[in-house]
Amino acid sequence: RRRPVKPLLPQPDEALRTHFGFACLRPGQDEVVQAVMQGRDVLAIMPTGGGKSLCYQLPALCREGITLVVSPLIALMKDQVDALRRKGIPAAMINSSLTAEEYRESMDGLRRGAFKLVYVAPERLCSGGFIALLRRQRISLFAVDEAHCLSQWGHDFRPDYLRLGRALDDLGRPQTIALTATATEQVRKDVLEHLRLRDPLVIVRGFARANLSFRVVHCDSQSGKLRRLHRLIEDCRVGIVYCSTRRKVMTVFDDLRGMGVNAVVYHAGLTDAERGFAQNRFIAGEADVVVATNAFGMGIDRADVRFVAHFEIPGSVEAYYQEAGRAGRDDLPAVCELLFNHADLRTQEFFFEGANPPCSFVLRLYALLRRHCSPDAHEVDLTPDDMAEMLRTKNVMSVGSALSALVRAGAIERRDVPGRPGRIIRVTDPSRRGDEIGLDAESLRFKALRDRAKIGAITRFAYSEGCRQQWILRYFGEDAGAPCGLCDSCLDDRARNSPEDAGLSERDLLVVKKALSGIARASRREADGSWRGIFGKNKIMLMLKGSRRCTQPSLSRLSTFGLLKDMPEEAMKVLFARMRRAGLLATSGDERPLLTLSERGARVMRGEEPARLSPEGWGGARSAAGGEADETLYRALIGLRKSISAETGLPACRIIGNDALRALSARKPLTRQAALSIKGIGPRIAERYLPAFLELIAEYEMKE
Ligand code: ADP
Ligand code: ZN
Repeated sequence: RRRPVKPLLPQPDEALRTHFGFACLRPGQDEVVQAVMQGRDVLAIMPTGGGKSLCYQLPALCREGITLVVSPLIALMKDQVDALRRKGIPAAMINSSLTAEEYRESMDGLRRGAFKLVYVAPERLCSGGFIALLRRQRISLFAVDEAHCLSQWGHDFRPDYLRLGRALDDLGRPQTIALTATATEQVRKDVLEHLRLRDPLVIVRGFARANLSFRVVHCDSQSGKLRRLHRLIEDCRVGIVYCSTRRKVMTVFDDLRGMGVNAVVYHAGLTDAERGFAQNRFIAGEADVVVATNAFGMGIDRADVRFVAHFEIPGSVEAYYQEAGRAGRDDLPAVCELLFNHADLRTQEFFFEGANPPCSFVLRLYALLRRHCSPDAHEVDLTPDDMAEMLRTKNVMSVGSALSALVRAGAIERRDVPGRPGRIIRVTDPSRRGDEIGLDAESLRFKALRDRAKIGAITRFAYSEGCRQQWILRYFGEDAGAPCGLCDSCLDDRARNSPEDAGLSERDLLVVKKALSGIARASRREADGSWRGIFGKNKIMLMLKGSRRCTQPSLSRLSTFGLLKDMPEEAMKVLFARMRRAGLLATSGDERPLLTLSERGARVMRGEEPARLSPEGWGGARSAAGGEADETLYRALIGLRKSISAETGLPACRIIGNDALRALSARKPLTRQAALSIKGIGPRIAERYLPAFLELIAEYEMKE
């Protein structure tokens, strides 16, 4: 008799293709998956949208047993489980949102080992019965999503998460992977300590945004900021302007409308319909600019945002980077500008005070509520504004925060009553004095400390020197790599350190001059001193190369014939494209473009002016933010990749990704160094295939 064949578990590569339909793992994902497959514990920190779920979903499919996923948000859990099921992956969730029927189904399936992935809410793992059930299953991987929730230093502390360490012990310490999008040093330490990960791989990846140019502009007046903003809109057109207050949103909006900018507003004071309208118009591309408070952003899905301006400094680096990061989702160049005025920190200070009332204030409020509650129902008939006035504070926010603290302590309840505006406040037990309600003064102080530290950090960012991108990466703990080359600081450095022909050695300058004189010889000088082309660029290149294919006697007899004979053909093409960008060349001719010198080119040839070939080979003005993917070039690049793929047998995405090709087509770099700063182009690609792509770009440049 044949024994039943156990289904073979797939390899990650294979499962990635068959179940998820992706060709490659992203950088970072590959390292995590590898470590997990080797049995290592992992703490992975990747930005939202970075692809964290795949880090445990993929290994889950490639091993026996169940992967248990702890996740704090029921809605997200449901999305994930639905998505997995659509892919044919057996998954389930266990949380309070299930009907009795669904719950029974999930539990039965869990007992039978029918699922590869099971999502659970953290509080489940506090139940002894549930733990006992899990102990009878084979848990091959324990994934803790949103791991920052277990640190008081995180922005979303959840006490239930603190028990996960215990749960892991009870389960016999299965292999564990923790994931989060933000983890400062302290949060990271807390996660590692609480979960007691063993020799974990800690990896921070994916925060760098190689297409964003970060700038901090010090502005000492509102009008200065507006001028700056106008320029940004002129250059980049489509973008988001973040202001810290609704009032400021309206001022800026009015100004922009006065300028004829097609803008919409968005803040929490608008009705749902108004907000929906603004959001839809912006996403549909019917409005170019949205002026908004930080309420704008969740679920924004417009990839071609070319700039994000912060009209005022936000309250934390996390918030700043998340908002700024909405620029350039299409991986094309975009600008993130922080219009910084130190005085704006006062607004953040105000928010800070509103969010962090001192303990004494909370107790004063409690006393007030006790005095004013009705004798029977213990209800209070005061609005937050009334309370603020009675407590003599101008900051109504602090009343709201103090009320929340009292709710958390169980001293009061707040609930909505249909047909009545605002929320009803009920004092739980008015006989209890302030010192009897068990207010958690410690955690109030903790939160104040944390919020203070965040304002401190973003202030340091605004005053930082050196590469802005590196500063941010260091803040998030990611390996900062080389300076980005695009931020204000990098650009300033370059301007400072580059005497006019920096990047061009004596030798290179000589090469430029030789090329220019070759072009001059192959042109005609008119009576008025101007230059007129006689030959196309290809013929001139063949002449300079001294090629046998240069058959035209009028060219082959020139003294410049073979002047650059040692220069490889590709390099010559790139050189010509760079000279063209530097404005040294001109074309004339009606049918075929005929190449000649520009006025400037002639002066450079005579040594009267520096060549100013941009050292990195960026496409001059066009490389500035706002550069769009060049469809024709993009298609040509795709074609080239296809032929390389056919030649080498490598799948296209192993050679170079579509996003990187798009960025190449938009930015048209001509040098290796410039191309390397594009996301998705690593040294490996540069070594093997980049020269071919650069050559194609140069060729294309010369065609235009
Ligand atoms: P996170 O949890 O980090 O916010 P997700 O796991 O939700 O991110 O992934 C974000 C998006 O990226 C999803 O749409 C996902 O399908 C996609 N994605 C993840 N990994 C890859 C990959 N290797 N190739 C292509 N797309 C991917
Ligand atoms: Zn930089």
